[in-house]
Amino acid sequence: MAGTLSLPGFVNAHSHTFQRALRGRAAGRDFWAWREGMLAEAEKQTSELVRTDYEATYREMRAAGYTAVGEFHYLGVPEAHAAAEAAAAAGIELTLLHVAYARGGIARFRQESVAAYLAEVETLREGGLRVGVAPHSVRACPADWLEAVAAYARAESLPLHVHADEQPREIDECLAEHGCRPVELLARTGCLGELTMVVHATHADGAELDLLASTGATVCACPTTEADLGDGFLPAERIRARAIPLCIGSDSNVRIDPFEELRELEGIARRQTGRRGVFAPEELYRFGGEQGARALGVESWPGIEVDLGHRSLSGVAEGHVRAALLAGCGADVVVS
Ligand SMILES: [Zn+2]
Repeated sequence: MAGTLSLPGFVNAHSHTFQRALRGRAAGRDFWAWREGMLAEAEKQTSELVRTDYEATYREMRAAGYTAVGEFHYLGVPEAHAAAEAAAAAGIELTLLHVAYARGGIARFRQESVAAYLAEVETLREGGLRVGVAPHSVRACPADWLEAVAAYARAESLPLHVHADEQPREIDECLAEHGCRPVELLARTGCLGELTMVVHATHADGAELDLLASTGATVCACPTTEADLGDGFLPAERIRARAIPLCIGSDSNVRIDPFEELRELEGIARRQTGRRGVFAPEELYRFGGEQGARALGVESWPGIEVDLGHRSLSGVAEGHVRAALLAGCGADVVVS
């Protein structure tokens, strides 16, 4: 086959772009050991570095077929503006998920009060950025912060993104502090709704998944990062059975390839169920596109072209191309 196939652009609903620098570095043992290296990298960031390095990584995303990105940002307000400039220069639609961080992490992540956090969000909105709110996690935000951020998001109809159930230790700590699991705490504090995106949900139990389903929240799966960090497997079949909307993110950016994220998602589901085609190809394309865009509050984003003459599509019949892209191609099929 010659020529190209037009597809909607992919939407990368969850990225920490500075973490691209960590790939390949020995940061062994477990998630918590990796996190030490990540915090050291975060400490080094300046507006100038964000402006140049994020543009380079956003260009990689653009070349891989992502044309919109949600930047889950906890490096500070000047750096948020630098990220927005980098995205504009790279030609990728950006939603800046400005992170609320009350405790833990490093000093630059934290605001002194939730009022100070919301003032930062207002500043970014006044500066013309497309913004969502992002209480980092139930580790980083106590219940009163979660309540205040959720109330603001509801009043302003803004996306609310939050990490939850990525690691068992986070669940143990939440049970010890609040007597409930992370997604239950999010429900109790008003954080769950149709504009909510929960990142990971790797270790969510049945009751937590029921809460996500009943409130209309979206789950963002980041399979290549979840593999890299040893997080575990998305409960793909249990999410599918409840019709919880899914989307994808490159998260730590160890890999930047939407086809691979979607293939992993389906691969996890197959390993868990012993069945093939758990998610239909068109469903996977929705996860990779419109459901991510909805979670980012993005209404339009550029399309992409795929090279039908690419060697990885050799011998594929025209009617099988869309499925073959998901089954057997990498992001190098995208025409840059
Ligand atoms: Zn993340």
